[in-house]
Amino acid sequence: MIDTTEKFDAAATATQAKTPPVVRPSVLVIGASISAGRVVPALLARGLEVTVLPGQAEAKLALGLSGSLGSFIESISTRGGDVPESLRSPDSPAALVKQLAASQASGARFISDAKVRRCTGQAGDFQVLITRPDEAGQEQFEPIQAGAIILAGDTFGPTSLGAEDFGVEPTRAITNLPGLMLNIQKGYIPHSLAIVIDLAAEQGKLASSVVFAAARYLARRGCRQIRVYCRNARVASAGLETLYRSARSAGVEFCRHDGKISLAETPAGLIEATSLDCELGEEITGQFNLLVLADLVRSTGQSELFETLAIRPQPGLAGNIWLGPVQTNRRGVFALAVDGCDGEFYAWRDQADLAVHEISQLLTCPTREAIDEAAKVDSEKCVSCLTCLRLCPHGAIRFDEKEQAADISQIACQQCGICVAECPAQAIDLPQYTDEKIQSQLAQAPALTVFACENSAIPAGQQNESKDVGVEIISVPCAGKVDPRNILKAFEQGTGQVLVLGCNPGSCKYFDGPDRAKNRLTRLREMLSKVGIDPSALQYEALTANETERFAQLVKENGTMTNDETRMPNQ
Ligand code: SF4
Ligand code: SF4
Repeated sequence: MIDTTEKFDAAATATQAKTPPVVRPSVLVIGASISAGRVVPALLARGLEVTVLPGQAEAKLALGLSGSLGSFIESISTRGGDVPESLRSPDSPAALVKQLAASQASGARFISDAKVRRCTGQAGDFQVLITRPDEAGQEQFEPIQAGAIILAGDTFGPTSLGAEDFGVEPTRAITNLPGLMLNIQKGYIPHSLAIVIDLAAEQGKLASSVVFAAARYLARRGCRQIRVYCRNARVASAGLETLYRSARSAGVEFCRHDGKISLAETPAGLIEATSLDCELGEEITGQFNLLVLADLVRSTGQSELFETLAIRPQPGLAGNIWLGPVQTNRRGVFALAVDGCDGEFYAWRDQADLAVHEISQLLTCPTREAIDEAAKVDSEKCVSCLTCLRLCPHGAIRFDEKEQAADISQIACQQCGICVAECPAQAIDLPQYTDEKIQSQLAQAPALTVFACENSAIPAGQQNESKDVGVEIISVPCAGKVDPRNILKAFEQGTGQVLVLGCNPGSCKYFDGPDRAKNRLTRLREMLSKVGIDPSALQYEALTANETERFAQLVKENGTMTNDETRMPNQ
């Protein structure tokens, strides 16, 4: 077992008078997907304690729908079917599922049918409350402590479509992709089969791989008619083109639909599907013994879980360019394969490895710099308003009951400064950007004072070759850090104009900086007009790090026009 707390103590005591944060060498894995099969053994091998909460559907199917995918692949390979390259890798899904099962014997604790009810604490020290039914079916609460949390499930969730979506009574003749795979494992070969894909959304390589493989497998085993209804057959992945062609050669028909299909049940219990064939430009109808609605979508429980964990609906790169592929806005919470089921297995494996690496770093060597530079609360000044808890985009703040004050995790804080600017009691400081440091940079009566975000405006300004007289540029970690006190101080020192330059909404490293800044500026303008300052003297503009010309133009428009000298920070 890694004694991370001891290591952390050694690193931290030199700089912190305060007790160092707790860093627990334990990980909670929520979900038991294929990625979990990679993650759990790797975490155990690093000496970390692991608790796994398989999802409800996963628990029902032993190791999950993804488990049934693993078994499906295994079953088609052991029965002589060719496993498509896109479903094969040194760590095949079937092998990963087996590893996950074996990890129970290696010390991972599995808790079935658990539901996450609450998650407090921060990176290194999460307090998660779960419920699980006891033998009498009564819900029992159980607290779990973990240094990090990984979401590793739900990707291979049930389809969102059902017979009822088409006005058809639910029937055994309509199933979804996991249902089809279970049928295959049981050896059921339908007489005729339709597989419909790309209805809820255009599907990724995973769904396409499984659909093509299943269709080809059944075509080769006596299914008399198989028609795949798709919008665009996705073949841009290793081996998919070959698989698609061999499915066609085995007799599988492909039909391009336009996103709409109507279904009806015939008196004989067949499912009749009617759609526009985009290639032929005419309507086609077919009757099938079995119809599979094969779209893979996130399970419905995912949004609820995200809310409980206080993470944004789009974790990873898809949600914010500043996040790594497995990171979420809440430090210490990682999300695997939430890319709309578009990933390939090797990509999932890479994500799993990345998460293991990041967790090892987080739980074994939090850096001194992070501790030195994190925001800090003066508990004497804190009035317990909880504003900072509500606004911190990274869930880095908790309320310390003993101190009766907010407490910021030195590990989870990302040093954006949003809480500093919003605290009504001025109880929070960011050591690198204290009021003293910022105000010491304010010149006497410049034409323009620019508070510039160091993720966008500062790089844009540093490439700017034109120099403007009387322009003072002050670097801030985020527009959300720009504090009314410092703006008022700039006006007090006689600046003609204040310009806050930040990121565009959606590309803020700290998610909420631009919105927070703009809201604050709106309130501040009202105040300025009351004290006789023209509210238009305070402006917010968004730009990106490579918008050099726009930076120059904004400075010119808002300041004096003499090209001579602009003082950039650190010059
Ligand atoms: S915003 Fe300030 S006063 Fe309010 S809880 Fe946070 S630190 Fe305390
Ligand atoms: S500085 Fe930013 S990340 Fe750190 S506690 Fe404040 S709001 Fe949260």
